[in-house]
Amino acid sequence: MVEHVDIREVGLRDGLQNIATPMATGAKLDWILAEAAAGVREIEVCSFVPPKLLPQFADAQQVVRGALAIENLRVSALVPNLKGAERGAEAGVHQLNCVLSVSESHNQSNLRRSTAESVTDLKRIAAFLESLPADRRPRLACGLATSFGCSIEGPVPQVRVVALAGEVAAAGVDEIVLADTVGYGDPRAVRSLFALVTAEVGGVPVAAHFHDTRGLGVANVAAALDTGVRAFDASLCGLGGCPYAPGATGNVVTEDIVFLCEAMGFDTGIDIEALIETRKILKAGLPGEALLGQVARAGLPKKFSYAARQAA
Ligand code: ZN
Repeated sequence: MVEHVDIREVGLRDGLQNIATPMATGAKLDWILAEAAAGVREIEVCSFVPPKLLPQFADAQQVVRGALAIENLRVSALVPNLKGAERGAEAGVHQLNCVLSVSESHNQSNLRRSTAESVTDLKRIAAFLESLPADRRPRLACGLATSFGCSIEGPVPQVRVVALAGEVAAAGVDEIVLADTVGYGDPRAVRSLFALVTAEVGGVPVAAHFHDTRGLGVANVAAALDTGVRAFDASLCGLGGCPYAPGATGNVVTEDIVFLCEAMGFDTGIDIEALIETRKILKAGLPGEALLGQVARAGLPKKFSYAARQAA
């Protein structure tokens, strides 16, 4: 029996939020369609921030509508506050992703409020979702940004991450995502923090969101797999960063992470060659952007065998 790992595409949100020139709505939808056809089952398609703050997401409604028309695809969206959660639920997304930072300074510069105030906001969003009929209630996930360190404060103590994860779990989220927003994590820290947080949150699934800022992204995914993590965020072509974290470069590369998982014997259900083909949509739709990725450059190894086939 081959174990399954969920790879979730976040490039349309985490990647595009750092690119000033809006990508055409049609290109975004082509991207979503191509990844879904490649076997990706969950895509964060936009952010429900005020359009005047981030014109990149002014077409959020349209993008969500297009994505919802695709079968077997969980459509998620980032929501910065209750207003965003209301817009996301109204649009019919399957999952709302909230984010707060473990580092106070990062939370202040990103969300203009303290971490404690953000936890209160999260509880408000959870209460709002509870008030919706069950068949129209999106799942709620909460990311803990700067879980491994912060470009403003430096090291972030693991005890603070664990305590905050406990509070967030108690707020009633369906998933917690430990995010290495600025690439401070390493495999040893990944092993210890995921073990500690998983033990704290009483059965709430804990997923991983790594950036490859210092080249340890793939190693961190491998360490998290060893620790039992079975859900990872990633960006096609490694798009991404953080506007409030200077020097933070892209997310781990979706194509490379799928390759890693499959090579290690975990089934992702995703066709790597189809993902590599999808890069053409980004090349055409995001002129001048650096498109990263090792597997796309080198191609798959000769006679490469996917996990499901290795087991058969
Ligand atoms: Zn990120």
